[in-house]
Parts: sequence; C-alpha cells; structure tokens
Amino acid sequence: DQPLTSILKCRDVLVKFGDFTALDRFSFGMADKEIHFLIGPNGAGKTTFLDVLCGLTKMSDGSITFQKNYSIDDKKEFEIARKGIGRKFQAPSIFPHLTVQENLEVAMKQEKGVFSMLRAKMTKKQKEKIDRQLEIIGLAGKRDILAGGLSHGQKQWLEIGMVMMQEPELLLLDEPIAGMTEEEEEKTGSLLRELKQDCSLIVVEHDMDFVREYAEKVTVMHEGTLLSEGTMEEIQQNDKVREVYLGS
Ligand code: ADP
Repeated sequence: DQPLTSILKCRDVLVKFGDFTALDRFSFGMADKEIHFLIGPNGAGKTTFLDVLCGLTKMSDGSITFQKNYSIDDKKEFEIARKGIGRKFQAPSIFPHLTVQENLEVAMKQEKGVFSMLRAKMTKKQKEKIDRQLEIIGLAGKRDILAGGLSHGQKQWLEIGMVMMQEPELLLLDEPIAGMTEEEEEKTGSLLRELKQDCSLIVVEHDMDFVREYAEKVTVMHEGTLLSEGTMEEIQQNDKVREVYLGS
C-alpha cells in the first residue's frame, strides 16, 4: 500500500513513558525526495516520533523500516545515523571557536576528532564537497568567520550543513525557523527545497504559513495518533483536523 519509491514505513509505533502513551500505534510512510511536514498541537508526539526515528527513544512496540528493508527497531543512534537518517536538533551545537568552514570539515570527518581532522590535508573531493555545501547553505562568503559570530539564522543553516556533510538520505528537522526573522524564514524555505535534491525531509513545524508555502505532504498528529495525511489542501478539508487543530 506504499508507493514504490517509499523511503520510510512506520507501522503501529507505540511509545510509552511510564503509564503515559506518547505514540499510540502511529503509522507513517513517506516517498523519497519529499518535504513532509509534521504538525499537530503541543504534546501530539511529533518530537517523540523524530526521537524514535533517530534511535534516541525506543519503541515499546511496532516496526520501522528505512529504505528498502533496513529495520531500525533495535539499532543504536550511531548505526541509524550511519545508515542515512540525519537529525538536526533545535539547540545549535556548532563549534563557536572554529570557522564556518572548519565546522563543516569537522562534521565531514566526525569520527576522527576535531584536531586530528583539522591538521589532516583535505582531498580535492572533500574540498569540493565543502564548497558545494557552503554554497547551498548560503555561507560561502562567511567561510573564514568564527561560527560564534554568525547570526541566529546563519548558525541554524551551518548546523543543517553539518548534518548534510554526513550525506543523509532522510533529514529530520525540528522547528527550523524558530526565532528567525521573516527574511531568514524565506531563506530557510529555499534551503529546504534545495536540500530536497539530495535527501528526503521530515520537518516538525508550528508556523502554518510556512507549512502552507513549503509542504508537499502534511501529516497531522493528535494525542500520539495519526489524525490526517495529505496535501495541505486535503488536510484543511478534513473536519477532524479543523476541529482539533486548525480551528484552535
Ligand atoms: P510534540 O512534539 O508534538 O509537542 P512531544 O513528542 O514532545 O510532543 O511530547 C508528547 C508527549 O509525551 C507530551 O505530553 C510530553 O510531555 C510527553 N513526553 C515526551 N518525552 C517524555 C519523557 N521523556 N518522559 C515522559 N513524558 C514525555
């Protein structure tokens, strides 16, 4: 029942925190190279779902298959990341005392540690990879600036670039435009579209204007369950969605 290009299939995902059920047999699927937004009231389970996808929170029951048949059910965070699910958290975790370019270098060669990485000469291919990513995130002109001196928006883009250095096939973003100016929001929207050339995206977002503008598919969650799924037009016509979310 999923399209052939499906990249992720989640079936009846159950997550309990003690007696509290955060995800209540939530099922979700998405196509490859899609910008898929996850919306729903506070406490709906959106962040918990991202946490499960990157291995931070374990399911009590259910199954998740990534790409053709890779089951993430019993995998550790680093295994899932290596397999191609990248996560950008809300709080920035850049190295403020390294330059923008050095931050990308470190992210590219994470496993080697910061200082051995920066001493090692980059290959031509690695340089090109960094140059390309600097262009994509719009920071080519800031490559030699210390990352701590960037604006809030620029730090967020740098961090997205750092996750992209690991070449994920699925990128998870939690409220990417939080705290941004209108101009930065627009740039972030264009960035999402550009990233889509390289990977699929699941984006948790509260700003409905942003969702309307950039979503290809939207999933609405409520109390740990799936309320509705479809294009923005489709979900707006759903009575349950209007009642629970859009009308509120
Ligand atoms: P959303 O991102 O949609 O706002 P969350 O996934 O953050 O929702 O939270 C869903 C529910 O699970 C909330 O009621 C939250 O309090 C609860 N929750 C999340 N993480 C934990 C945890 N580690 N322990 C207990 N309850 C949690």
